[in-house]
Amino acid sequence: MANYKAQAINLKSYNLGESDKIMVMYSREHGLIRCVAKGVKKSSSSLGGRMQLIVANNLLLAKGRNLDIVCQAEVIESFSSIRNDMTKLIYSFYCAELINNFGLENDTNSKIIYDLSFEALKNISIFSSLEEILWTVIRFKLRLMEAVGYAIELNQCVRCNDIEHNYSSYHFFCPESGGVICGKCEEKANKTLEIDKRHISIFKDAQIYDFPEDNSNFDKTLLYSCFNILKEYVSAKSDKKLKTPEMIETLCC
Ligand SMILES: [Zn+2]
Repeated sequence: MANYKAQAINLKSYNLGESDKIMVMYSREHGLIRCVAKGVKKSSSSLGGRMQLIVANNLLLAKGRNLDIVCQAEVIESFSSIRNDMTKLIYSFYCAELINNFGLENDTNSKIIYDLSFEALKNISIFSSLEEILWTVIRFKLRLMEAVGYAIELNQCVRCNDIEHNYSSYHFFCPESGGVICGKCEEKANKTLEIDKRHISIFKDAQIYDFPEDNSNFDKTLLYSCFNILKEYVSAKSDKKLKTPEMIETLCC
């Protein structure tokens, strides 16, 4: 049985028998990994808290016939302040659900996706205001979608490639097509969402900055509206129905 190493973030777990868990992780080296953490539910387990969700570990894994087995885990980052705050926890679970949904086994982009996921969780754990957390998740969604080949189009109509006078002339976003849409195409589209230049400017800035230096125009309602536009887009590209957006609506609004 060959052993291998990986840096991975715990995304999801399932109980397996009385004392084991099946873990779903996203690793920097191999993309999504499904593996077994043996004995983790016993109080004497050395893996213990390292197999909690939203923890990043350096792992030693053994190749198994079906699922690989966690032999050793050493915490890289436990993102501990996330666990003391329900809002942070729900937005982190949302990020984890997206990574699990759009990540692949043996992902060619695994380093990029791991690093941007780690950054997002780290910033959610550090930041304190809801505006900062929303900004982080908007930035994460934009960059994750780009990494998996679904970058959003903000500069020209996503349907006909027509360039209006400048980006501030666009008033609609089409979640199905993934970008801004011109007035003519909007009439033919199934579903569009209203946007204006403030949304587009947040999307453009969030792709570049961890957090904007000038946040004088920061408005929770606007950020939440940007979050929702991307939520619709991400859901339109997802094969599975995402569960955490409903939790966000119930608990965070
Ligand atoms: Zn058009």
